[in-house]
Amino acid sequence: MVNRVSRSSENHYLPAHEIRKKLDSREISSSELTNDTISRISAIDGEINAVLKTTAETALESASAADRRLRGSGPEPGPLTGIPILVKDNMSTAGIETTAASRILSGYVPPFDAEVVSRLNEAGAVIVGKGNLDEFAMGSSNEHSAFGPVKNPWDTNRVPGGSSGGPAAAVAAGECAVALGSDTGGSIRQPAALCGVVGMKPTYGLVSRYGLIAFASSLDQIGPITRDVRDCADVLNVIASHDSKDSTSVKAPFKDFGAKLGESVDGMRLGVPKEYLVDGIEPGVRTAFEEAVEELRSQGATIEETSLPLTNQALAVYYIIAPSEASANLSRYDGMKYGASVADGLTTAAEVSQHTRGEMFGDEVKRRILIGTYALSAGYYDAYYKKAQQVRTLIRQEFIEAFGRFDALITPTSPSVAFEIGAKMDDPLQMYLADICTIPVNIAGLPAISVPCGMSEGLPVGLQVIGPQFGDRTVLQVAHAYEQVTNWHRSHPPL
Ligand code: GLN
Repeated sequence: MVNRVSRSSENHYLPAHEIRKKLDSREISSSELTNDTISRISAIDGEINAVLKTTAETALESASAADRRLRGSGPEPGPLTGIPILVKDNMSTAGIETTAASRILSGYVPPFDAEVVSRLNEAGAVIVGKGNLDEFAMGSSNEHSAFGPVKNPWDTNRVPGGSSGGPAAAVAAGECAVALGSDTGGSIRQPAALCGVVGMKPTYGLVSRYGLIAFASSLDQIGPITRDVRDCADVLNVIASHDSKDSTSVKAPFKDFGAKLGESVDGMRLGVPKEYLVDGIEPGVRTAFEEAVEELRSQGATIEETSLPLTNQALAVYYIIAPSEASANLSRYDGMKYGASVADGLTTAAEVSQHTRGEMFGDEVKRRILIGTYALSAGYYDAYYKKAQQVRTLIRQEFIEAFGRFDALITPTSPSVAFEIGAKMDDPLQMYLADICTIPVNIAGLPAISVPCGMSEGLPVGLQVIGPQFGDRTVLQVAHAYEQVTNWHRSHPPL
């Protein structure tokens, strides 16, 4: 037994494709791995708070089904068969409470699975729990969770980034090899960067949003958080699908997301938009980024500075469009149909709705609802919402034009490393600035990945690779080529 625990503990920091080899050689079973994952979460998550709930019982059932499949019964196993996975708690899981880290949804048990959850189950993956997040995915630090902040495993006085802080911290802390996050303005890539793991937002529409608790529907996209780029491609191959239940779902014009992994970047044209090296960028982030640029150049890529002047408008556009959509999406939480309800002593539906929303939504969510309602109101709609949509089109065109000259763009993922818990809580604008490098990508619906590219003050730095629409394979190719000659993705916190 002692042997088994020490043997499996070597697995805590392995990527899924290496764990999979051990499953295939029967060095370990999925049931052992799942037990080990759940014990590790209970042993260390008290310090991190990345996991809101573990689902031991259903996970062990899925694990034994995966073990049977790996031993030849049932459908052919795939890369994720038997692999433990954490799912951000804004994705619906049938029979398992799904809260979006909001008090207003506490006690809500969805009667259906999100499409991504069905896809994972079909692939034989083992869902081990639900990851913490900023309430309704609104935030960049995970401090806006109703269930307490997530701590960065590299330094527990610091934030993990947000809003997928739980999934990113869990992968970084060796609690699981793979997690799913959602990204509306950077919520996969920014926490991946701050926690030293890989995170990708696919092209808008490639992954079904069915069953994802909506924040801003024209921007939201689900994607993987993993230890390396190969795993990221493997997860995308499972979760990307055309889904008639999501009207914005598209059919990918290609099949295998990993098709270009291993291809060199020699001869590729990469652009560095100077607006992303903003004034406030930390010197350590700039240095790590510049070294990554040199690395790609030494592999034969042609790298040139370029300019995307509308980048500077992206934050303003986002903070009109995202809250506007949020104000409409969140109007369904009225204390009647789902989750919590404040009704004691109240007589009218309007009163119940008012009290439930007033008492159960957190401050950041209320701030977004107010901004969004204002931007959509008669008299302001043209000045704010309509104008923001027009600028959105221009931003998209600016990217299209840049991709006439470049195969991909490279930038830092975040202007800073993980900041201290509490540092930006009193200043929403400073918090919003944390997303300056990630937001334009959502506005234009493009694919982008963050891969670890160095350390500054003992904390991880991320390199972002942005591709044209449906350039997901190119983005993975560039990130993979970079990863092959560096070791940053292999370093992990001392937990
Ligand atoms: N931090 C951004 C926000 O608060 C992005 C969040 C996200 O991508 N879900 O809106």
